[in-house]
Amino acid sequence: MSKTKQQLHFETLAIHAGQGPDPAYGAVMTPIYQTSTFAFKGVNQPGPFDYSRSGNPTRKALEDCLAALEGGAYGFAFATGQAAEATLLSLYAPGDHLIVHDDLYGGSYRLIVSQLQEKGIAVDFVNLRDLDAFTAAIRLNTRAVWVETPTNPLMNLIDLAAISAIAKVHGLTTICDNTFLSPYFQRPLDFGIDVVLHSTTKYINGHSDVVGGGVITRDPALAERIGFYQNTMGTCAGPQDCFLVLRGIKTLALRMEAHHRNALAIAHWLEAHPKVAQVLHPGLESHPQHELARRQMSGCGGTFSFRVNGGQEEAFRLLSAVKLFTLAESLGGVESLIEHPWTMTHVSMPEEVRRSVGITENLIRISVGIEHQDDLLDDLAQAFQQV
Ligand SMILES: *Cc1c(COP(=O)(O)O)cnc(C)c1O
Repeated sequence: MSKTKQQLHFETLAIHAGQGPDPAYGAVMTPIYQTSTFAFKGVNQPGPFDYSRSGNPTRKALEDCLAALEGGAYGFAFATGQAAEATLLSLYAPGDHLIVHDDLYGGSYRLIVSQLQEKGIAVDFVNLRDLDAFTAAIRLNTRAVWVETPTNPLMNLIDLAAISAIAKVHGLTTICDNTFLSPYFQRPLDFGIDVVLHSTTKYINGHSDVVGGGVITRDPALAERIGFYQNTMGTCAGPQDCFLVLRGIKTLALRMEAHHRNALAIAHWLEAHPKVAQVLHPGLESHPQHELARRQMSGCGGTFSFRVNGGQEEAFRLLSAVKLFTLAESLGGVESLIEHPWTMTHVSMPEEVRRSVGITENLIRISVGIEHQDDLLDDLAQAFQQV
């Protein structure tokens, strides 16, 4: 990326990074290069692309755009967030040890446990809000530390600068899942993190019509290995999905501002509601890590959780009474969703683990969309009357 491009603002990069007019016909929107293979110019004269698993122009546009938005140098687009994670895990070999934050997206937890156990790679799940516990878990063969912040559904934060400072002393690679905030509100590479991971399914695409993943780094040696495994494993995203994600990215800044505004207003409203026991939102002063939120995030996105007074019965009554909020898993789309972690997204966690981390029967997670705030508040108000 040239120097002038680095000086452009986020909103401008979202629309222009990686996306010049198409060299063939000058198409202003990046074309969908729906092709598996590319003609050679002559014997022993390949063009810039030869086969779409190894590289594709639509995918390259998205990959360059993702790299620019995260302030990275190299971007990779994957078929899903899980495919991105599986590709990153291939960097590790038997005998290696990884430290993983103990409060992680359920699918990531399942992938790490199953893949690493099969390969004979040791992993410790550690509460990385406790920096002494992190230091104590580091062994001679520890290669990487894997975090997610804010966490799902409890909205706990990890201090990225502190984690990467300790990791650097011990030569560990730092990996941060930045799905919940997108680079618009948090740029982990700026805090010394080595690798940023995304489920682009969520805010980056933002329209609930694609599953996709992304990885971004500044480190050329890591980028070479990630690119090698992306090509070797065939975990890359297809051109149609890359086109849709690129289209979504163009409005990322506008959407994130709207998600943030709506969600924070709803969080304040819930905090004052007599039928709500607790609101877990890092933008509230009542959040125990509010100071850290102000330091490392420039906004909070649209997803957070709250506890209703009572238990499962009261939670179910609210979930059944909402009309605009759709009862569904996933998050980060323009439409508002509501879900019950205890019986939905986090049901695969053993009951005692759920209870010990604070995922209880009265906990509700919402992904606040970009509808008009008053309509969303009216819907919650009428739903609470049924509780
Ligand atoms: C959804 C999600 C993933 C997995 O991504 P998929 O696109 O569903 O494969 C990983 N991490 C986080 C934080 C997520 O929310």
